[in-house]
Amino acid sequence: MSRTPNDAPPPLPEPLRVAVADSHTHLDMQSGTVEEGLAKAASVGVTTVVQVGCDVKGSRWAAETAAAHENVHAAVALHPNEAPRIVHGDPGGHGPRQGARAGGGEGALDDALAEIDALAALPHVKAVGETGLDYFRTGPEGMAAQERSFRAHIEIAKRRGKALVIHDRDAHADVLRVLREEGAPERTVFHCYSGDAAMARECAAAGYYMSFAGTVTFKNAASLREALAVAPSELVLVETDAPYLTPAPYRGRPNAPYLIPLTVRAMAAVRGIDEDAMATALAANTARAFDY
Ligand SMILES: [Zn+2]
Ligand SMILES: [Zn+2]
Repeated sequence: MSRTPNDAPPPLPEPLRVAVADSHTHLDMQSGTVEEGLAKAASVGVTTVVQVGCDVKGSRWAAETAAAHENVHAAVALHPNEAPRIVHGDPGGHGPRQGARAGGGEGALDDALAEIDALAALPHVKAVGETGLDYFRTGPEGMAAQERSFRAHIEIAKRRGKALVIHDRDAHADVLRVLREEGAPERTVFHCYSGDAAMARECAAAGYYMSFAGTVTFKNAASLREALAVAPSELVLVETDAPYLTPAPYRGRPNAPYLIPLTVRAMAAVRGIDEDAMATALAANTARAFDY
């Protein structure tokens, strides 16, 4: 009897018949080359990806990678957990931060935001994000910096005419409030949507896209499936957030865009439609949300 090691990449799922996009991934945190990852994804019908940067360095890389690959689109931002680290002069887990003022402070955050703004002007950069609020990893001491950064990203997305990609962890009410106060951009995407059905109705009324990750396949995610069931067909997206959030039955093993078919099939089952209809809607919605 052989056992599969827990860190082994899951096997290739059966290919989708209708190609879709992974609306949110981090290729720079996955094993193997970008070309290998894209080829593996394309072999199962995941032909497009949105590569998301989380700091200045990662955002530059996302923009470069999108420029080099026709089916890669970039999103650029300072992650909600990155903004407080910049202000507090904490090197964090992302290595040296070029361009940031030594010792942090509000000026360092302004410098980093100016770099994100410049990247957001590039043609291959289709979105500003992931930005938003994360009350799970950032404590009360970081909330002011986080919210200031979120508001600045909203302003950049609107001025540059790009989509806004929201990271909302344990902060639903405040994320919706800040969007209301600032005025959301025309195209706003809640990545790794984590609200319930009531919030999905609120997002739908505002025209926000809801992107579902592998979490929707988790056994304990009934309220997320209820949200998916009530979300309008034209506002639903799919993503991996790879290397995180690997869909069932491979939870805990490394995630990558080629595993999107598992989540698409779970979503089709929740909505009571066939896989091809689900994939057709997802493909059209992602292209509309990111304007590619
Ligand atoms: Zn996120
Ligand atoms: Zn992410």
